[in-house]
Amino acid sequence: MPETFKHTFDTAVFKGDVSVPLGLYIDGKWVDGANNTTIDVINPTTGKTFTKIAEGTPKDVDTAVAAAHKAFETVWGLNTTGSDRSRLMHKLADLMEANGDRLAALESLDNGKTFHFAKNTDVEHAVACIRYYAGWADKILGQVIETSEAKLCYTRHEPIGVVGQIIPWNFPLVMMIWKIGPALATGCAIVMKPSEFTPLTALLMSQLIHEAGFPPGVFNLVNGYGGVVGQAISEHPRIEKVAFTGSTLVGRKIMEAAAKSNLKNVTLELGGKSPTIVFDDADLDQAVKWAAFGIYFNHGQTCSAGSRIFVQEGIYDEFLKRFTEHTKTLKVGDPFNPENFQGPQVSQQQYDRIMGYIDSGKEQGATLHLGGSRVGNEGYFITPTIFTDTKPNMKIVKEEIFGPVCVVIKFKDDADVVVQANDSVYGLAASVFSQNLTRAISTAHKLQAGTVWVNNYNMLHPNVPFGGYKQSGIGRELGEYALSNYTTTKAVQVNLHIKI
Ligand code: NAP
Ligand code: MG
Repeated sequence: MPETFKHTFDTAVFKGDVSVPLGLYIDGKWVDGANNTTIDVINPTTGKTFTKIAEGTPKDVDTAVAAAHKAFETVWGLNTTGSDRSRLMHKLADLMEANGDRLAALESLDNGKTFHFAKNTDVEHAVACIRYYAGWADKILGQVIETSEAKLCYTRHEPIGVVGQIIPWNFPLVMMIWKIGPALATGCAIVMKPSEFTPLTALLMSQLIHEAGFPPGVFNLVNGYGGVVGQAISEHPRIEKVAFTGSTLVGRKIMEAAAKSNLKNVTLELGGKSPTIVFDDADLDQAVKWAAFGIYFNHGQTCSAGSRIFVQEGIYDEFLKRFTEHTKTLKVGDPFNPENFQGPQVSQQQYDRIMGYIDSGKEQGATLHLGGSRVGNEGYFITPTIFTDTKPNMKIVKEEIFGPVCVVIKFKDDADVVVQANDSVYGLAASVFSQNLTRAISTAHKLQAGTVWVNNYNMLHPNVPFGGYKQSGIGRELGEYALSNYTTTKAVQVNLHIKI
């Protein structure tokens, strides 16, 4: 029997007990991994191990896939009604709301994001997202297609079957919900692998899914390492689709495994190097605050982070002055202290990676304008960092850093900034700041990005699709668009009176 993680939070923002099973959740039961091994769970605020989760294996993936198939073919998929699925999902949303503080506290402990954002951004969005997809569950519609009076032709949007979902550590709860929302609404059965760095909220969510009354096997959770459990999911012959969020490198591996196994459908939400464009007619005060939120939100560990800030030459110096002053006000420290905007980076690996990029910026001749150093002597804290005087080929300009590090670059005019902004292998997001909406919108239409924010940044809504151009991904999550990832179209052609 798997052990339980019990913890009493006694912080300024949350006091209370949390208890979650540490096993795999397969076929409605908590189990140990087939090899009886565990993975350490580390608190990024201290760098210390505080619990261990069961480690899944390919054998556990097989068991989970079998349970998912059994559920799909008997009590889920086409054997259930949309309104029944909707009711279960609303129940789950209610339970998430009732456990909102616990979910947020676990996320802060495990990931390092501040409790304030974990609760008011992540948990709130996650609940809204489940409710949004609960609303779709009984509105999955095909079409009647007029061909001739001799025929009745229509389409059905049937659930694709058993799906694999592999999620990262930067928004553990939100990424889980973006994936299970459309899958549950359409009637797919799920095998999910969270990131080994941040497994805790998925464990509590599995408990809530159980409590909501979803039939056993509809949702299965297999924690484990990416190269083992993630790989087993992406090459599994009985998984019909895999949804992945994470690095472009691993995204490629997933597509390759899908191609080499059963040609399963693949959706990928990958990295970015997104531009923030500030024109000389922007509301400067607002542009400064949104640009800072664009890069520093979630410690820069956001796929859509606005890490390249382009500022028109006439206002460059003034923008940089105000942006620097604003950045200095962002406090870094304990995620449970409500005064702090930024907690630690998620792991030693990410800390080292970001510091490596900061070193490369210095070595390649950029000016380290602000930050670039460690905060405190334990945990993975890094000061918000600004580089200037960059060149287009520097690593800090081209590559995704995934930390609180931005480059501020001067541009001449509208045409120049579009070329510079689009000069990236990525195309996840972008933003434009101008009080002239004609200018802002015509620039937005020229940018190669799946989302363009005009006079704001990092605002997400369950109803609005999100995903990438170019190497930022394939497919869209959120909104009605995400439903098509989880359904397959059947055309039925009925002969009314044609004889041969
Ligand atoms: P990653 O390796 O892509 O991890 C994402 C997920 O994929 C994790 O659950 C991971 O498992 C799993 N995985 C790893 N190798 C796999 C494989 N061969 N087959 C199937 N699944 C596999 O990302 P990371 O190493 O944690 O972060 C590295 C960089 O990725 C970041 O610095 C950032 O640039 C980017 N990233 C982007 C996003 C995003 O939202 N777009 C999110 C996270 C990271 P483990 O549990 O073993 O890690
Ligand atoms: Mg952790």
